[in-house]
Amino acid sequence: MVIGAGPAGSCAAQAAAQRGAKVLLIDRRQRLGIPVQCAEFVPQWISRHASFSSTCIMQRVEKMVTHLPDRIIYEMKSPGYMLDRSLFDKELAASAVLSGARISIGTRAVDLSPEGLVVELGSKMETIPSKVFIGADGASSTVARFVGKPPLKTITALQYEVVISEPQNHVDVYFHKDYEGGYGWFFPKGKTANVGVGVVTSKTSRLPDLLGNFLDSLRESKNLRGIQIVSKTGGLIPCEFYEQNLFKNVLLIGDAAGHAHPITGAGIFNAVMSGEIAGRVAAEAIERGDLRYLENYETEWRETVGKSLSYGTFKRRFLEEHWDKPGVDFEELVRKTWVGFKEYYEDRRKIPLCPPL
Ligand SMILES: Cc1cc2nc3c(=O)[nH]c(=O)nc-3n(C[C@H](O)[C@H](O)[C@H](O)COP(=O)(O)OP(=O)(O)OC[C@H]3O[C@@H](n4cnc5c(N)ncnc54)[C@H](O)[C@@H]3O)c2cc1C
Repeated sequence: MVIGAGPAGSCAAQAAAQRGAKVLLIDRRQRLGIPVQCAEFVPQWISRHASFSSTCIMQRVEKMVTHLPDRIIYEMKSPGYMLDRSLFDKELAASAVLSGARISIGTRAVDLSPEGLVVELGSKMETIPSKVFIGADGASSTVARFVGKPPLKTITALQYEVVISEPQNHVDVYFHKDYEGGYGWFFPKGKTANVGVGVVTSKTSRLPDLLGNFLDSLRESKNLRGIQIVSKTGGLIPCEFYEQNLFKNVLLIGDAAGHAHPITGAGIFNAVMSGEIAGRVAAEAIERGDLRYLENYETEWRETVGKSLSYGTFKRRFLEEHWDKPGVDFEELVRKTWVGFKEYYEDRRKIPLCPPL
């Protein structure tokens, strides 16, 4: 059984169903993918791992431009897609169903008992037994609470989608001393762009002002004239991960396990990757009749997404410790801690790349 039909859950459900497992995918939402809480940028190579059609792609992106204070600019190749995230989530769920999974929307997990998962479906409560439970229920995971894990540290983001008059084929990220532990972004998607700011969660109350000022600062460079907002969103992004993701027959994947990158906040690709591994391993464990096989999930997610998460966590600690430290050169700090600079990778030998088992 898979709890949560975001990218992680749908990819897990698809992988398990493709291997012949009987899969139920549940989500508390009545409309999958809505509301969108995302800036919608993914690397191009995600299409090798997730089943979605080109209609989910709003536009292609060639590079990322990083803006430091004092108008210093750096460019890096960053081939990617700007998605229609609501359609993307729906298509991944549809792909899982077409592979044999069943889906139940409007179904909220409320407890895990020895008899099974307790769910609320409208006014009804039901207990659903399963050999394996895959927790894919996002940054504020209830399944993680069921297995006794405390909430993960998060970044909070606020984002407005604004109308733009000139198309653009790159994404922009902006660093500013006020965007504590985070950054601002301008991600174009045809006639609109997702413009947002993320900060350490303790600074959440400052976000409306920060985003308002950020938009004002873009008026000229992005030719925004009047700022016309067509939608507003936001949310939490985990910036640390659980070292243990397997608890007897319960697996945590995607944001529920803290698999978003601790520096960039990008989590869709890792959600797809850990979902695919968990679904495949769970189906094999059930087929073999041996739940000890689930241990392979711990090994495989470490080998694939674990390395960059460990290193990102190390960099985040450094970033947060030095943000307000007197005498620290802000530009140098950003260079050491942002993935777009070669300095980011220089400490790689200093820490073990894989979180230990
Ligand atoms: C503002 C913002 C911007 C972002 N921008 C980007 C970006 O540009 N690129 C990128 O790669 N990542 C981005 N991210 C991160 C990305 O959105 C997540 O990493 C990604 O959605 C993780 O996928 P997931 O399937 O693990 O979780 P989610 O997509 O959060 O899906 C979890 C699902 O579980 C369901 N659920 C929750 N609780 C329950 C319950 N009790 N019972 C049943 N169902 C439940 C929810 O309804 C939801 O459908 C952004 C995040 C935010 C907040």
